[in-house]
Amino acid sequence: MGDPRRHIPATDRILNEPRVAEAAERLGRERVKQAVHEAQQRARDGEIAVQEVVEGVLAELPESTLSLRRVLNASGVLLHTNLGRAPLSGAAVRALTTAAGTTDVELDLETGHRGRRGTGALAALREAVPTAQAAHVVNNGAAALALAATALAADREIVVARGELVEIGDGFRIPELLASTGARLREVGTTNRVHLSDYRDAIGPDTGFVLKVHPSNFVISGFTSAVSVAALSELDVPVVADIGSGLLSPHPRLPAEPDATTALAEGADVVTASGDKLLGGPQAGMLLGDAELVERLRRDPLARALRVDKLTLAALEVTVRGPSTPTGQALERDERQLWHRAERIAEILAGAGVAAETVSTTAAVGGGGAPGVELPSAAVGVAEHLAKQLRTGDPPVLARVEQGRCLLDLHALPPEEDTDLVRAVLSAVR
Ligand SMILES: *Cc1c(COP(=O)(O)O)cnc(C)c1O
Repeated sequence: MGDPRRHIPATDRILNEPRVAEAAERLGRERVKQAVHEAQQRARDGEIAVQEVVEGVLAELPESTLSLRRVLNASGVLLHTNLGRAPLSGAAVRALTTAAGTTDVELDLETGHRGRRGTGALAALREAVPTAQAAHVVNNGAAALALAATALAADREIVVARGELVEIGDGFRIPELLASTGARLREVGTTNRVHLSDYRDAIGPDTGFVLKVHPSNFVISGFTSAVSVAALSELDVPVVADIGSGLLSPHPRLPAEPDATTALAEGADVVTASGDKLLGGPQAGMLLGDAELVERLRRDPLARALRVDKLTLAALEVTVRGPSTPTGQALERDERQLWHRAERIAEILAGAGVAAETVSTTAAVGGGGAPGVELPSAAVGVAEHLAKQLRTGDPPVLARVEQGRCLLDLHALPPEEDTDLVRAVLSAVR
């Protein structure tokens, strides 16, 4: 039979292999041809078996044309807005894949007629928030507020405390968003204090609703006073509560974070919240509460412009129903486990000749949530100059630079990614 290297498949035959042909369509024939020649050469050199030439070609080509890259979150910020906030659970990712095909998102399979869009996600939300009579989902938290302002207060007034006129991030200001809908803001109180009588004096025939905004990314301390949702609900107008973070029920580790079930129980008529903060789901805006008001929101012409796609509905439904989300799991991580992981990583790095130490740190919830909360955490400290190498490496790692060191904080990083982190540090050093 002679030399097996003489049986290396011809270029055209490899290019006709369906997976290689698909790559050629995506990446261009010349780019793929080059990979074919390289793989053939490696087979000739005996580096790979003749039967592995096609695999060798595919291994050299990028898997897709997607420009987004997976980033290891070693920043110690659980919900990093620049990293896309909440990572989805495996179950939610599988739901996305199912939804990506043709689905019954708006079809009643029983009758064959058009069905109500997103019933699964809406039912999941109503079950998770027993105090909500109805639910509606839009594109994000800002869209939820814009819809409430448009449907319930266009050409009318929204009464809101001065201390709650929040800027969220990237220049997004809640008062500017509300004003853009045509509603007029009626500010009450001062920066640090507001009383029930301030609200009462401002309410009149022009009032659309009273808005209570959770100051989710800052705390005011000292001589302060605010009015609770419970107290506001005694006024004779609807109360809309923007809780921001998206907790559906109280979280034991975040006692100061508002949640939808409690806010509605205390008398809010509508609660608005984000899907990709503490809920740990996809970007979405949730509107929960009184059936009649939610129906008005749903019927408003703007609702169509803020509508979410089938992917969001699928991921949200599975996120709400469980199992636990990566964000939920990150919140549960305790300091001792984190320290143990940091020690092991530091040891492996030291064994490979990289200066590394275990450092006690403080992680944060982030994503504009739980501003005062400090999560005790642990990090691996390496040389400061590695931060940039890590960020531009493969996979990229987002670390934190503090006190002349590059800290790889483990609180936001799932333990399954520790091996990848070690590999990334070793390649950054090289
Ligand atoms: C985050 C946040 C928003 C905006 O929500 P997005 O989902 O980012 O649009 C609005 N209000 C509060 C209180 C928030 O924390």
